[in-house]
Amino acid sequence: MPNYQPVKGTHDIYGKEAIGMRYIEAVLGAACELYGYKEIIVPSMEYTEVFARGTGEGSDIVRKEMYTFLDKGDRSITLRPEFTAGVMRAIISNKLYAGDLPLKLYYQGPAFRYERPQLGRYRQFHQFGVEEVGLDSSRADAECICLAVSALQMLGFENVKLKINSLGDNETRAAYREALVKYFSEHIDEMCDDCKERIKLNPLRILDCKVEHDQEIAKGAPRIKDYLSEASEKRFYETLNIINAMGIDYEIDENLVRGLDYYSEVVFEIHLTSPENKDYGAVCGGGHYGGLIKGLGGPDLAGVGFAMGLERVYSLMEDSHLLDHIEEGVDLYVMPVGDKVLDEAFEITMACRSFGYSTETPLAALKFGAMFKKAEHLGAKYALIVGEEEMIHGILKIKNLQSQEQKEISLENLQEELDKIFHEGHEEHHHHCHCHEE
Ligand code: AMP
Repeated sequence: MPNYQPVKGTHDIYGKEAIGMRYIEAVLGAACELYGYKEIIVPSMEYTEVFARGTGEGSDIVRKEMYTFLDKGDRSITLRPEFTAGVMRAIISNKLYAGDLPLKLYYQGPAFRYERPQLGRYRQFHQFGVEEVGLDSSRADAECICLAVSALQMLGFENVKLKINSLGDNETRAAYREALVKYFSEHIDEMCDDCKERIKLNPLRILDCKVEHDQEIAKGAPRIKDYLSEASEKRFYETLNIINAMGIDYEIDENLVRGLDYYSEVVFEIHLTSPENKDYGAVCGGGHYGGLIKGLGGPDLAGVGFAMGLERVYSLMEDSHLLDHIEEGVDLYVMPVGDKVLDEAFEITMACRSFGYSTETPLAALKFGAMFKKAEHLGAKYALIVGEEEMIHGILKIKNLQSQEQKEISLENLQEELDKIFHEGHEEHHHHCHCHEE
């Protein structure tokens, strides 16, 4: 039996959700531009080793979740499960590091992970993120975190919950890793199968295991803050001081380790609560990375970045009524009254579009009542009524569909008349947007 269903874990985005997703991307892009970031558009696929090496052999993503296939030339290709490794590959391929540093790049597009689909978790989903490369400092880390928080505030979220932790430098991580392996070795027999693998590949990940019994055991594990080198500790507190001075609330979460191998020093996640307490998972995750670019054959440059899940941002915005203002209808609905004025109505429609007004018309004679229903359905602001009698005198009726006010305008000065009518409305409109973003 042929399967014409959508691929498991994928979803079609249409109607209000499509408008909402594009709106979110536009606001996030505008936030990035305020911070001096420029967009980069990278391929959706890379040679598998980019992710194996970049994202890391120890990560769940590389071990279990990649869409990997051989192309017809027998090359192993992977659909990107995340952007950072591919963006680093692009920086190296195009020698972008040879220009002015730091490089500040943002990106957006679909990502693919073979995960168990559930609320807020898909197999093809959309990410928006940034990378700031070539300035290794607590201030660069803080700036990136500020961007993540203010971008979400620009979307209208008020209770942005920032969780933050430091994984320390390489020495810290090596010492801490050893301490964790030692501690968990004594308990591993009673832990879940995933943890049995994690202890070999990525013992830090045991700390964010979701199995309750494992969480209990993890409570007794050594704490990373006791292993931070002096330099890492100083750096972490510098970052915290800067974001604190910017008025951003945070919570230090010692179990926050992030699933990807490349992080060092500061890591963070942002959680937002839905009014109905639905748990879509973290909306944003990121952190500092040290050896990633060098590991992919580039120069020894550090970076910091984050990625947001757009489906989760959308769902939270929808639940919090932050998208109610974007469902805008057409400006004009042109109504031919009777068969004889269909040509005129079509010409007027085309003219209105050329003046820059979104305009719809039924393209066929409809009853007057039916046309008003359509106009309402389309969310039209005004109806332009094209009558046989009025056409002879070069006159149209325009009706404000909200106030029901109606007046006559001359066809000859259609553009000026429309500009006059819409002028006031548009000023209001801009004012509204401005308020919303503040
Ligand atoms: P990560 O780098 O894994 O933390 O991913 C960054 C962000 O992408 C997360 O905070 C989520 O918002 C989003 N995300 C990750 N995986 C998925 C998924 N399977 N479906 C939807 N969103 C996801």
